[in-house]
Amino acid sequence: MRSMYYKTPNGTNWTYTKLKALGQAKTDSSGPAMPQKSAQTAHYIELGSYQYWPVLVPRDIRLYTYEQIPAFLRENPYITDGYRAYLPSRLCIKSLFILSNETVNIWSHLLAFLLFFCLGVYNMASVLPSIGASRDDYVIYSIGLFCFQLCMLCSVGYHLFCCHRSEKTSRRWMALDYAGVSIGILGCYVPGVFYTFYCNNYWRQVYLVTVLAMILAVFFAQIHPQYLSKQWKQLRSLIFCLVAGYGLIPTAHWICITGGFSSELVQAFVPHVLGMYFIAALALIFYVSKVPERYFPGQVNYLGSSHQVWHLLLVLMFYWWHQSSGFIMAYRHSQPCPDVPQHA
Ligand SMILES: [Zn+2]
Repeated sequence: MRSMYYKTPNGTNWTYTKLKALGQAKTDSSGPAMPQKSAQTAHYIELGSYQYWPVLVPRDIRLYTYEQIPAFLRENPYITDGYRAYLPSRLCIKSLFILSNETVNIWSHLLAFLLFFCLGVYNMASVLPSIGASRDDYVIYSIGLFCFQLCMLCSVGYHLFCCHRSEKTSRRWMALDYAGVSIGILGCYVPGVFYTFYCNNYWRQVYLVTVLAMILAVFFAQIHPQYLSKQWKQLRSLIFCLVAGYGLIPTAHWICITGGFSSELVQAFVPHVLGMYFIAALALIFYVSKVPERYFPGQVNYLGSSHQVWHLLLVLMFYWWHQSSGFIMAYRHSQPCPDVPQHA
């Protein structure tokens, strides 16, 4: 039996109940809360305002509208359709290959994971040996890229399993996704602090230890169930800003002890730092504001939503910082530290 899911020409969804009342919906008595067990489902999706593309989804998995999904999945009312829900783990994994409103989120970070993995292999095998890297360089580079890869995998896991039929499982993956962002930020801090304070062992250790302590504290807060509650929503964004913004303190300190803005290294490296903060701020604006779907509800369900932009900007930020770390590491190898260490 073939079941259709319709949209009216003006883009509003005909709910399952309405269709059922018209005798056009699948006639199982379980209602929308159960996955279909019948044949393939033709689902009409909207890309832009006027195009309706029929998409075949495998049997067992159907897509739901915002009104049909369980409350714990209702994060963004402007994404009106294309939700997976009520799935066991096996079907969550299978849904990797269907077009839903999470497809771009999953694949963007899955491909980014592969990018950082390949970048790691390439750097270890080719770039680092060519500049005569020390054992420390290998360790720091590995930590940075490993954190980025872990962040990407946590995100893939969440977007793949958020539609799990168990709310508890879904929440656990969400907690891991948040914790993954902290790990990603740690991956930015470690090479950043290590190479900027390369000639000042004391402050290098002070900042590495404080950053590690801060990230660990946030990490454990993030895996706490209360952290994910709606009441903590603003606090979550605030904590994220504080963790990322803390980096401005060592940056300002480093500029002072390196000779201010007249220093050649400061002039060369500060644009890298500002570039990273610019990308991070842009990413956060999209994440919080839910633009563009706020202005085009239902039109960017599958492609172009704010969370997809946030994902891409996060990858861009990590890649940017990886290149920046490479730049300052190469500088440290070409310009040895002054004989008298800086103690400012
Ligand atoms: Zn995400």
